[in-house]
Amino acid sequence: MTISENRLSSPTAETIGKFVAIVGDKNALREPDEQAPYLTEWRDRYEGKTPLVLRPATVAEVSAILKLANETKTAIVPQGGNTGLVGGQIPNKEGTEIVLSLTRMNRIRSVDPQEFSITVDAGVTLAEIRKAADDVDRLFPLSLASEGSCQVGGNLATNAGGVHVLAYGSARQLSLGLEVVLANGDVWSGLRKLKKDNTGFDLKHLFIGSEGTLGIITGAVLQLYPKPAHSLTAFAGLPDLDAALDFFEHARSKLGPALTAFELLPRIGLDFVIRNMEGARDPLEAHYPWYVLIEHSGPEKEEDAIGIIESLLEISIGENIIKDAVIAQSQSQSLALWNLRDRMSEAQKPEGGSIKHDVSVPIALIPEFIARAAPVVESIIPGARPVPFGHFGDGNIHYNVSQPRDMSKDEFLANWEKLNEAIYALVTSLNGSISAEHGIGQMKQDLMARTKSPEELTLMRAIKASLDPNGILNPGKLL
Ligand code: FAD
Ligand code: ZN
Repeated sequence: MTISENRLSSPTAETIGKFVAIVGDKNALREPDEQAPYLTEWRDRYEGKTPLVLRPATVAEVSAILKLANETKTAIVPQGGNTGLVGGQIPNKEGTEIVLSLTRMNRIRSVDPQEFSITVDAGVTLAEIRKAADDVDRLFPLSLASEGSCQVGGNLATNAGGVHVLAYGSARQLSLGLEVVLANGDVWSGLRKLKKDNTGFDLKHLFIGSEGTLGIITGAVLQLYPKPAHSLTAFAGLPDLDAALDFFEHARSKLGPALTAFELLPRIGLDFVIRNMEGARDPLEAHYPWYVLIEHSGPEKEEDAIGIIESLLEISIGENIIKDAVIAQSQSQSLALWNLRDRMSEAQKPEGGSIKHDVSVPIALIPEFIARAAPVVESIIPGARPVPFGHFGDGNIHYNVSQPRDMSKDEFLANWEKLNEAIYALVTSLNGSISAEHGIGQMKQDLMARTKSPEELTLMRAIKASLDPNGILNPGKLL
């Protein structure tokens, strides 16, 4: 338990009545069946309890909720699209915390194609933002498999990554300004549109990645990009993992900023997708131990761009860095290739239990990390099947491990902590991070003390104490 949690109290019936009055009966959910979608999550690891799910519609309502929560020392758990993978959006099991859902704050406030920006409420889904940008011939490059459900407030609170970080950065790099309701109910209106602003601390960066522990994001100004005139997808088979590093170097040097994705897939992952996902097919004739999916996009016409990517592939085949490759010839072929990558997580579910690690290491050390992790897994769970895949170009590997075929799921999953411990120790020894893009939430909270320096933790706690002295915002998460 943290120090701040000691000061919190369970809301009384009178306090609950006051919370309900702020949003109105209809938007204060008290029935178990109404609350259920807010209390479980995608991975089925966390299930919470709550006296109330509040669904405010305005910044003023969020402000009133936090003011009351701060006065009554009631814990508030902000929730966006509930797609987070570390349990940050789920309240505790004791039923003492109130869930604040941003779902009804779903207005696109303005789109400005001329200055390449969009201003939105925090509850707008990522897919809606991408569409609004596309409608005015612009690109909002953040792209996640969860984009139909996740909300931009959640994306910013977790500093979400995805497949285009390589070229455009994560949610942090795509934000220009924020509007945040602070723990005491004050509203910080930082909806600036300035790319350059060196007037002291850049406060928005405190809230980005803070997972709802420092304030509630209610609005954001986001950076748009020109919509690429062409987008080409290629899929290459590699002889080994070291070759992926050489191929990355070639691709980055030859394509420059037009290399907009560089994703790694292992053969076993491809087998899972082909076996378990309808319509998936092997894109190359022979089998290779590793594959890379690359995307080349930019302002050139497709006819001009195709020569560049062909030359990259030819040179790489000539140097034995890749063995074979295919370039998608149509939108549907491109989607079919992306499908192999996007469904990699989902395709692991029918294979039984999966123990996950969202980690990053310096790019040059990815082959070493994957090579050293395999015997670690084997020594803890003989026969377990590692499926390392993900954002190679960002040094971010989703080191998932599927259960051995002949073991029960429960027996396998009982190894979760032990395996985590060993993999995180390896990652740390390689100067990597134990959470590359999913955040800390409640899943990795106890690891913070072991992987951050005392100085970093002291600074983080000082910031938390100053912005949320009563510790009402998402207690028990992150710190
Ligand atoms: P939630 O899950 O509701 O909340 C996440 C955290 O943010 C919680 O701590 C919550 O308290 C806080 N929060 C939410 N809204 C606010 C707000 N307005 N103000 C303050 N705090 C808030 N993540 C990646 O980075 N890259 C991926 O490629 C990726 N792929 C995914 C694929 C699938 C199929 C799934 C299910 C998830 C994936 N994720 C990925 C994880 C997840 O989608 C992201 O973390 C996303 O940013 C969470 O957004 P959300 O709106 O669902 O937030
Ligand atoms: Zn990812």
